[in-house]
Amino acid sequence: TLNVPDQPIIPFIEGDGIGIDITPPMVKVVDTAVEKAYGGKRKISWMEVYAGEKSTMVYDKDTWLSDETMATLKDYVISIKGPLTTPVGGGIRSLNVTLRQELDLYVCLRPIQYFTGVPSPVKHPEKTDMVIFRENTEDIYAGIEWAAGTEEVKKVINFLSDMGVRKKIRFPEASSIGIKPVSIDGSKRLIRKAIQYAIDNNRKSVTITHKGNIMKFTEGGFRDWGYQLAKEEFGAELIDGGPWCKLPNGIVIKDCIADAFLQEILLHPEDYDVVAALNLNGDYMSDALAAQVGGIGIAPGANLSDTVAMFEATHGTAPKIAGKNLANPSSLILSAEMMLRHMGWTEAADLVLNGVAKAIASKRVTGDFSSQMEGATQVGTAEFGDEIIKHM
Ligand code: ATP
Ligand code: MG
Repeated sequence: TLNVPDQPIIPFIEGDGIGIDITPPMVKVVDTAVEKAYGGKRKISWMEVYAGEKSTMVYDKDTWLSDETMATLKDYVISIKGPLTTPVGGGIRSLNVTLRQELDLYVCLRPIQYFTGVPSPVKHPEKTDMVIFRENTEDIYAGIEWAAGTEEVKKVINFLSDMGVRKKIRFPEASSIGIKPVSIDGSKRLIRKAIQYAIDNNRKSVTITHKGNIMKFTEGGFRDWGYQLAKEEFGAELIDGGPWCKLPNGIVIKDCIADAFLQEILLHPEDYDVVAALNLNGDYMSDALAAQVGGIGIAPGANLSDTVAMFEATHGTAPKIAGKNLANPSSLILSAEMMLRHMGWTEAADLVLNGVAKAIASKRVTGDFSSQMEGATQVGTAEFGDEIIKHM
């Protein structure tokens, strides 16, 4: 378990676009919850660190992510961030991707929970209560690919021709090629975290999602290594001859083909709980499930390594509504709630969670929600933060 001091320093990145709207209410809500829960015995010292556009203003025009920022995020272990603009052109990688890779944040954690009253496209959104563990560093998503017509592709095609691959399937010269690496330890460390989370949080099951029926060694490997890990490291026993199995405490480890899973979350969401996914599948699932319970304005997230935990709003910078006090701060505030829980400050986390639930139920909400809620009143970003505090 983490050893968090009573007066921790927590670095935060304000974020670009609506980051300037949603970060101040997040800080205010968290400080109030901590004060209410611990009455001055505990207090967070916020330390601003710079990334994205703001970094280019504080440092210089080419510094989107400074070594200083990276070092701070690593040293202080727990941090929280708003959305970041990725510079167009100039060969700069997405800042989010850079952060994930440099800090080896291999888990993208996305809880999917429904708050009563939130507009949803499904009839029974309250049946959805899941936690997605998406692998963050591998898969076709790692970006190892070459454009059609390049020398690299020629070399790969020659190699594949030698292997006889091109005889078996249609494979024109003019192809772009991508590589899908899925490693044993990369899969295991992700699924290990998912199973441990299920145990720590008394969840019912862990579902390994995959397309192993088609991609036997990559996606199928993910499934097989997951079951292997469940047995070898967590003492799981086969159910009815397998492959599903059960941990000694009753948690079921099962698997589901990824396309079927996207039907399942609409048809039988109550059958799923903790979900482990490879990078690309996890990307699709996270967005679909977020929409099911109210959209990106309210979807929190975290990126985790074995040591570092970075909590973040899952939406983008929404430049059109930036600086106008219109954005919904719920995604960032619920990310902060996850952060408090991660720190073991459960009482403060519960205050935030209940505050958000009651603020939504009071129907005084930001425009993204009020426009679709009968009898709702639209309030600004800052005012919605105050609503949460009022209901704590
Ligand atoms: P980026 O290029 O950084 O991804 P974006 O505008 O595409 O910026 P997204 O998060 O992808 O940002 O959002 C798509 C749309 O959803 C936004 O244009 C905005 O209308 C809406 N949106 C996103 N986040 C919020 C929020 N927190 N509150 C209200 N509306 C939001
Ligand atoms: Mg976007």
